[in-house]
Amino acid sequence: MELREHVALAPYTTLGVGGEARWIATVTSEAKAVEALTFARERGLPVFVLGGGSNLLVSDAGFDGLVVHVAIPGIVDRPLPDGRVLLQVGAGESWDGLVQHTVERDLAGMECLAGIPGTVGGTPIQNVGAYGQEVSETITMVRCIDLHTLQAAELSGAACGFAYRTSLLNTAERGRYLVTRVDFALTPGGAPKLEYAELRRRFAAGATPSLREVAEVVREIRRGKGMVVDPAEPNSRSAGSFFRNPVINLDLLEHAAHSAGVPLDQVPHWPVGDELKVPAAWLLERAGFVRGYALGNAGISSRHTLALINRGGATAADVIRLRDRIVQTVLERFGILLEQEPVSVGELLYAPDQRLSELMQQRRA
Ligand SMILES: Cc1cc2nc3c(=O)[nH]c(=O)nc-3n(C[C@H](O)[C@H](O)[C@H](O)COP(=O)(O)OP(=O)(O)OC[C@H]3O[C@@H](n4cnc5c(N)ncnc54)[C@H](O)[C@@H]3O)c2cc1C
Repeated sequence: MELREHVALAPYTTLGVGGEARWIATVTSEAKAVEALTFARERGLPVFVLGGGSNLLVSDAGFDGLVVHVAIPGIVDRPLPDGRVLLQVGAGESWDGLVQHTVERDLAGMECLAGIPGTVGGTPIQNVGAYGQEVSETITMVRCIDLHTLQAAELSGAACGFAYRTSLLNTAERGRYLVTRVDFALTPGGAPKLEYAELRRRFAAGATPSLREVAEVVREIRRGKGMVVDPAEPNSRSAGSFFRNPVINLDLLEHAAHSAGVPLDQVPHWPVGDELKVPAAWLLERAGFVRGYALGNAGISSRHTLALINRGGATAADVIRLRDRIVQTVLERFGILLEQEPVSVGELLYAPDQRLSELMQQRRA
């Protein structure tokens, strides 16, 4: 285990803000992860598990504990009796590298998830999804270390409780497990998933693109939106989409339409169970938070409304100030409380606006 003290966390994240970790251990095997967790337990240190840092907002105060940076490698495949192929993948593997590996081998199931940054171990946490596909569709098992017992545990896909941007791992059991390996079942020679209209439009009617072509087109679309991490693209200095699309009831949707001064059918929405999902981007734009909006060193990407970016030299407090201004305005205007998607690490010292706190309490009541 490689252990270092007082390490700046910002370079480990795609947003590039935040202070130091008191300790950081980079682990390349399950045994080394247990060693690092034992080190923390013996000293009574809090633990944070870091993957590729692409879904994080680290506080300016940093993290006063042990950050375990998971860099466990390896891709092993074996045939399954039902004709599919099982891939057992180390949590530290690059997600996009894995997608490329699968499409080159003509294995269907994750082609629409090309271009998403981060590690394989990070994907089950919020059930990563894009362009009509989610990792929950192919994950069969998540192997972890239980931080309570320091023993290995294996969670079946069903046990992970996957839903829209959530799983057991970021809800009821948040922070309990360190993922060491994820197993996926993929379909050899399967057809690409072309359910998402924006993706389908890229291909001629009746075309039968290969998995590799679909993955490349997805990356192209994402690049156009600054959603592929690229040091030459300042719009990609983000944590991806900063807000989840809110799921609301019809009353609230009617209220939002009324507040926006438009008929109900002009508010984009689609059903999710008994409720309705509304694009957070629509709410931001209607509330005046358009692409290119800037507040100090933080801002909104000029290519994607939902990506809050570090415009250069931003602190976590800058990002939080912008976040809170957006949340407050959307809440006042539409009565809808936006939820942050990236995970907050450490104490976020910016004191939220008093009025925002009151509004949030009213909404929760
Ligand atoms: C430009 C850009 C585009 C993005 N596009 C998308 C998208 O289309 N769809 C989408 O769903 N997400 C998207 N994201 C968000 C992000 O890439 C994913 O959530 C990704 O899976 C996070 O993985 P990570 O390894 O970077 O995790 P990190 O950011 O390091 O961590 C995120 C969370 O996962 C936990 N975690 C990470 N690794 C482990 C592990 N091994 N064991 C236990 N817990 C772990 C952390 O503790 C933390 O709670 C995007 C981000 C960026 C910057």
